[in-house]
Amino acid sequence: QAKRVGGNRIEPYRPAFRAAGADKLQIESDLRRALERNELTMVYQPIVDIESAEIAGFEALMRWDHPRKGNIPPSEFIPVAESSDLIVELGMYALQQACEDIASWYRALGQIPIFMSVNLSSAQLLRNDLYNDIRSVLTKTGCKPPMLKLELTESVVMHNPEQAARVLARLKDLGLQLALDDFGTGHSSLSYLTRFPFDTIKIDQSLVRATNEKQLVLLRSIVAMARDLEMNIVAEGIETEEDAEELAELGCDYAQSFLFGPPIGANSVLKLLREHFPVM
Ligand code: C2E
Ligand code: MG
Ligand code: MG
Ligand code: MG
Repeated sequence: QAKRVGGNRIEPYRPAFRAAGADKLQIESDLRRALERNELTMVYQPIVDIESAEIAGFEALMRWDHPRKGNIPPSEFIPVAESSDLIVELGMYALQQACEDIASWYRALGQIPIFMSVNLSSAQLLRNDLYNDIRSVLTKTGCKPPMLKLELTESVVMHNPEQAARVLARLKDLGLQLALDDFGTGHSSLSYLTRFPFDTIKIDQSLVRATNEKQLVLLRSIVAMARDLEMNIVAEGIETEEDAEELAELGCDYAQSFLFGPPIGANSVLKLLREHFPVM
């Protein structure tokens, strides 16, 4: 019953930098240049209702089209950017572009009920200007606060829980949505579900594909607790229709995976949305 949306292109994993023997400094300076030369782009993966496959929103994911090395996956360059101040600029670029794009889809299609999820790194959260930067991006792009969802992993909030709690409360007051990303990979501290104002929990693919009985127990209790807290539950990386049905039965609301639709460019999203939300 899961419907595929959009095209399908899964890139093989090629560790471009390690293969080239280049070091972190090299990647850093390449990345700096990439920002200036517009080699970084955003793609958007649909987040869909797990039962109806209706599109609920998109997650913005960064891509680096390197002139010589080709497509470099975020798993290679985001950690490098995070180990320097570059992630702040990269993060602002992602936020700006994602907000611009969703605002333009709204302008083209009217008030469609979709949100845009953007990943936030620890260095961004701990900067004093984050709140004002986000407000100014929203104003400039015409993206309304409820249209924007910020995704943070446990490790991002764990870095400085007190400050994270303060900043997240302010962002929540502004009207943004907040998602706890990759849950089930790190400490999976259930207290995080209540300690911070998250309205969404994204269960990591490793747990979604739970195979042994202990993992299943963990998965069930996380879903049960999130449900009791009335959070939205997204299952990441579901691979089979069977798993989709099982997770829906457990109480997951949404799915995000190649099975339901890979990340696609902004123009393809607009086409997809036109089919999905035909003008009355
Ligand atoms: P994430 O935030 O957990 O994003 C979901 C990742 O899972 C994406 O990988 C997506 O392509 C992948 N995915 C989706 N469906 C499936 C599936 O069915 N099977 C499998 N195996 N994978 C699936 P991607 O785009 O390579 O990004 C990896 C990570 O890089 C992200 O994980 C996020 O932590 C980070 N990242 C990407 N873009 C940004 C960004 O703009 N800012 C920050 N701070 N981090 C980013
Ligand atoms: Mg994410
Ligand atoms: Mg995730
Ligand atoms: Mg992840």
